[in-house]
Amino acid sequence: MIDGICAERLWVCEAMRRIQADFNRSADTHLIKVDLPAFQEQTLYLKDESIHPSGSLKHRLARSLYLYGLCNGRIGPDTVIVESSSGSTAVSEAYFAKILGLRFIAVVPRGTAQSKLDQIRFYGGETRAVEAADIYREAERTAEELGGYYMDQFTFAERATDWRGNNNIAESLFAQLQLEEHSLPEWVVMSAGTGGTSATIGRYIRYRGDLSAKTRLCVADPENSVFYDHFVSRDPALRIATRSRIEGIGRPRVEASFQPQVIDRMMQVADAASIATIHWLEGILGRKCGGSTGTNVWACLHLMAEMREAGRTGSVVTLICDGGERYLDTYYDDAWLQAQGLDISAPLAWVKRLTT
Ligand SMILES: *Cc1c(COP(=O)(O)O)cnc(C)c1O
Repeated sequence: MIDGICAERLWVCEAMRRIQADFNRSADTHLIKVDLPAFQEQTLYLKDESIHPSGSLKHRLARSLYLYGLCNGRIGPDTVIVESSSGSTAVSEAYFAKILGLRFIAVVPRGTAQSKLDQIRFYGGETRAVEAADIYREAERTAEELGGYYMDQFTFAERATDWRGNNNIAESLFAQLQLEEHSLPEWVVMSAGTGGTSATIGRYIRYRGDLSAKTRLCVADPENSVFYDHFVSRDPALRIATRSRIEGIGRPRVEASFQPQVIDRMMQVADAASIATIHWLEGILGRKCGGSTGTNVWACLHLMAEMREAGRTGSVVTLICDGGERYLDTYYDDAWLQAQGLDISAPLAWVKRLTT
């Protein structure tokens, strides 16, 4: 006999199977070793998160948020999934909503790029555009109105991910470094959007004694973000009105998922420097990456230069967060750069000089 509760539990069972099956079909993401002749004793590694089925590191977060919602009894067969996001998170969450046969609504800031909206809709997701300042409130309201579930990535990213392992990004990247000359890195560098990835890496470093004694976490922050100032002052009320131009990272308020106490150092990176770095990186990797990858790699190069100057050998690791195809009409478009007042020539010359 199957009553209501049982039917729902069976649905959750099937939902879990589908999410695990997606994971089981997927290979781990590659760790790429980047050889830079100017750095003989300092090695850069990039973990390529752009190759996930839904195109970015947010594939991991979306999977974790769905599992979290399912295991907490918050997502059932008729639950409408709602998220506040203009970017990769909504794309990845729409991907999983489709796998589970759930309705998905992304509450996005007005002015979100058409290509992003198209990707969300590609997976059957719906979008609702509101004023940027209202996306959190509107997402919450929409979920309430429809009896749905607000995923709330900016609150739950840090706790939805199992920081002790379970093939989280930290466990995976340190395992992939195991046979390298410098298997325990000097630095892991990441930028913060929700702050979830840096929280997972920082916690995992502390959890593993061997890493704890050697490896530090540096978070790189773009312009138009409060994270850097919050790291310095720990003021939770910081706010700014402008939006970050580096998609996926930099926030106008201190997000609950951001965990400064597990970060060893932060670095501010100018937007022109982030974008110059992905243009340089295209010549190294033979392909385009998203802007936040530029922010990450710029910070890595700074740390490597510091190590070289101090005569320290070792490895520095960061992430390719997403691919550059999503940004052909922005970071890779001269007219867009000009309209934004971004001149990448000086930072581009600096990177070239540093690395050759
Ligand atoms: C979300 C995101 C980040 C930052 O990751 P968090 O874990 O949310 O801090 C970096 N780059 C891109 C492209 C992203 O979408």
